[in-house]
Amino acid sequence: MDSLTTVLLKPGEADRIVAGHPWIYHTEILRLTAPIADGELVQVKDHRQRLIGTGFFNSKSKINVRVLSPERVEVNEKFFEERIRAALAVRQKHLPAATSFRVINAESDFLSGLIVDKYEDVLVVQISSLGMDQRKAQIVAALQKIFSPRAILERGDMATRKFEGLAEAEGVLFGEFGARTAMSASSPTGKDADKAVRAPSITVNLNGLKFETDLIGGHKTGMYLDQQVNYQAVSQFAKDAQVLDCFSFLGGFGLHAARAGAVHVHLLDQSADAIAAATRNAATNGLAEKCSFEAVNVFDWLKAQTAVKPHEKVVPKFDLIILDPPSFTRNRASVPDALRGYKEIHLRALKLLRPGGTLATFCCSHHVDIVTFQDVILSAAYDTRHVLRRVATYSQSPDHPVIPMIPETEYLKGFAFEVVR
Ligand code: SAH
Repeated sequence: MDSLTTVLLKPGEADRIVAGHPWIYHTEILRLTAPIADGELVQVKDHRQRLIGTGFFNSKSKINVRVLSPERVEVNEKFFEERIRAALAVRQKHLPAATSFRVINAESDFLSGLIVDKYEDVLVVQISSLGMDQRKAQIVAALQKIFSPRAILERGDMATRKFEGLAEAEGVLFGEFGARTAMSASSPTGKDADKAVRAPSITVNLNGLKFETDLIGGHKTGMYLDQQVNYQAVSQFAKDAQVLDCFSFLGGFGLHAARAGAVHVHLLDQSADAIAAATRNAATNGLAEKCSFEAVNVFDWLKAQTAVKPHEKVVPKFDLIILDPPSFTRNRASVPDALRGYKEIHLRALKLLRPGGTLATFCCSHHVDIVTFQDVILSAAYDTRHVLRRVATYSQSPDHPVIPMIPETEYLKGFAFEVVR
């Protein structure tokens, strides 16, 4: 342990790390006490030589050190086992009934560069730092020990791996899953060749509803687990309601609303695959009769529904409208464009809401904070001459913990507003 290379920080750079933030940038480092290979463990000290943590070093990343612990630690299978068990205990405390959830959420669990999602008996791992990548075998061994999963998959198709000098990585790390159907077995003539490469899906249970999920080709690691508690929370406004679920993906909000007593739910997503999956999910849950689906661009659809001749008024049709778009911005520079997009959909959605109706709306961009997001909604409400009553405020589900000292851990925010007039 004493042989660890020391990263000495410049004066004034230790405070943020001591307070719990795990990232040390190149510019904050005074010097290294010895040469070191990328991916190795280092100890970090302030300029007065006081130990402030241990972490992974990578000269290729803008983030030179990702701190794992404020103390000296040995990183081995036991380390990962303890950390994963601690993270699991947090999920069991806050989501006691859940069978699918995020087990490890990187910085939120002080394991920068590691995400692990549990979809029933299958785990999906995403690794985005070199230090973690080099210890993949230890991580997989610890996960096997704790969960005894049917399979552990890797999804490594994110741009963030590039920043660490890592190639894309995809595959089955343990067990069996996604073996492509042998063409000869299902179609001796090869006619169904396209079907042969379709990845098998898994049925995920969220709040008692079943969702067919593609863990290999789907968004994120398959689903938006961060909305799990919000599906249930928003559905309380669905009783006897005409509901519109915009950006529905697999039908998370829409199907919860249908189960909660909606009269009818219309689901919109531009992806034909997502709409097809949502349609199957509605049937699986016995909710097909209450639901209708359209593969369309939400912007175009809302525009068409709110287009009227001069002096005509839009006829509002819905009692609950859900807006859960993708992040319209991945960086600070495009925030103004993103805000225009957010305003546009709110403006049109408000026109389609009946008096007393509810707008449940979400923003998953870290770069648009909650105050800015609410301002956009109020600006749309001003333009449509609506007055809104805020009846709920939402965040990401507790398996995506927010650590306020690490602002990057907070990204999902949402509100429910009722139309007062
Ligand atoms: N509400 C969903 C998550 C939505 S993610 C859930 O809880 O699971 C965003 C979805 O919006 C994706 O399924 C994507 O296909 C869809 N999408 C993105 N841009 C769109 C657009 N302009 N019109 C319609 N759908 C869009």
